[in-house]
Amino acid sequence: MDWLREIIGDESRVITERIDEKYLSDTLGRLKGNASALVFVRSTGEVSEILRAAHERRIPVTPRGAGTNLVGSTVPEDGGIILDFSLMDRVLELDRSTMTATVEPGILLQDLQKYVESEGFFYPPDPGEKQSTIGGNISSNAGGMRAVKYGVTRDYVRGLEVVLADGTIMTVGGKNVKDASGLSLKNLFIGSEGTLCAITKCILKLIPKPEFSMSALIPYPDLDSGISSVLEILRANANPTAVEFIGRDVAKLGEDFSGVKYPRPDAGSYILLTFDGRREEVEDNVKRIRGLALNTGAMEYIPLDDPDYAADIWKVRGALVKAVEATSEQEPVDIVVPISRTAEFIRYVKDVEAKTGVRMVSFGHAGDGNVHLCVVRGERGEEEWREKLHEVMAQIYKKAYELDGVTSGEHGIGVSKREYFLRETHRENLAVMNSIKDALDPLHILNDKKSYILSGENDNA
Ligand SMILES: Cc1cc2nc3c(=O)[nH]c(=O)nc-3n(C[C@H](O)[C@H](O)[C@H](O)COP(=O)(O)OP(=O)(O)OC[C@H]3O[C@@H](n4cnc5c(N)ncnc54)[C@H](O)[C@@H]3O)c2cc1C
Repeated sequence: MDWLREIIGDESRVITERIDEKYLSDTLGRLKGNASALVFVRSTGEVSEILRAAHERRIPVTPRGAGTNLVGSTVPEDGGIILDFSLMDRVLELDRSTMTATVEPGILLQDLQKYVESEGFFYPPDPGEKQSTIGGNISSNAGGMRAVKYGVTRDYVRGLEVVLADGTIMTVGGKNVKDASGLSLKNLFIGSEGTLCAITKCILKLIPKPEFSMSALIPYPDLDSGISSVLEILRANANPTAVEFIGRDVAKLGEDFSGVKYPRPDAGSYILLTFDGRREEVEDNVKRIRGLALNTGAMEYIPLDDPDYAADIWKVRGALVKAVEATSEQEPVDIVVPISRTAEFIRYVKDVEAKTGVRMVSFGHAGDGNVHLCVVRGERGEEEWREKLHEVMAQIYKKAYELDGVTSGEHGIGVSKREYFLRETHRENLAVMNSIKDALDPLHILNDKKSYILSGENDNA
């Protein structure tokens, strides 16, 4: 890879030997690839030159942010080069007149949030892992807790600079609020999981920082009554920022992991809510939901007035993926179903759990129907685990589609959900997605065989 060293001109940024294993996987480490080089890029020019040269040589390239994805989307399955963006982490501009921030893709979400908030602005997308990068968030269209009120990453991307597989640099979108000019290429790149381009610059929409926020915890006697109350809460015109559901057994896992105890351990489930905005508006909405909850079967309404206590309660919710991971290998699922069918879906999951004996820890973004399941391996040996996992995954994805749901709400498809996504997606849709891949990356060098990309072998399509 002498050509790579020539482009970069800095030995310390091109690793070709003893590449740390973490770069060959995602955050869970259960899937592994291999690579002949790991490159820490610093500029769009470098990315363009590397892609042009890799394209000429037909060398596979896997873009990588912080590697916190849960679906194997950064596993370099075909070897080749890992393009790491962690050093491209600068804020390039804060434009007060358009309320936008222009950043490099490797900036961490937590750093961006802190920076814009110190300037009186707010960047609403808030996936659970704050040490993920903005480039990774955009490439997987990350969601998170605040999606109920504010939407997902896609809603905050105004423009992008991207590099195509052959090294061509493109700018799509910009600082304008509206754009009805031709096809939205920007929206094609958002959520494309590194399969269509490398993102090198991001223009993000900001909003004014909310003045005040307040959370509440509502215990319910069982999971069903908790989830069933969500639609009522959403219809109450109280504009919650986040609405999460957590089963009591799941909260216990989070408590043991984080050392924080939830009140009302006699509850069967909890709904955890946040409201933000102007103080009077928030207080009014809180009051409205309190009355509604107590009239629809809640055991109690617990306002989390003390910000430290509220942060602790949220910490338990935020720790759930890691809490499960600390007890066993797991396979995360983030199926979305229409909100009105969440309770039905969870009941089905419980049924599959009982029939197969495979534990599925369920919690999630109740306010948008995004059900998170951690399918737990436990003490199973490799072969039994593969078999059982496939058995439950095939059933729950099939059910999700029967309920008009989809494979993923925010984590993406990557490698781990690909089989089920290919099986359940309409043929026509897959065909269009694959013709877009062929048009933009005809040699399939960018993150191939991930997500929607048909490889011809063993695909159900
Ligand atoms: C504890 C925990 C909680 C989580 N909670 C949430 C949650 O609430 N909501 C949610 O949406 N996700 C969540 N995630 C998943 C994960 O954090 C997100 O998918 C995140 O957006 C990934 O960002 P990253 O920088 O780590 O990207 P990576 O994992 O490095 O990459 C993700 C994808 O983006 C591509 N990519 C990365 N950078 C670029 C670039 N510059 N150009 C082109 N392609 C690129 C990669 O090829 C890959 O396909 C969670 C993960 C963990 C571990």
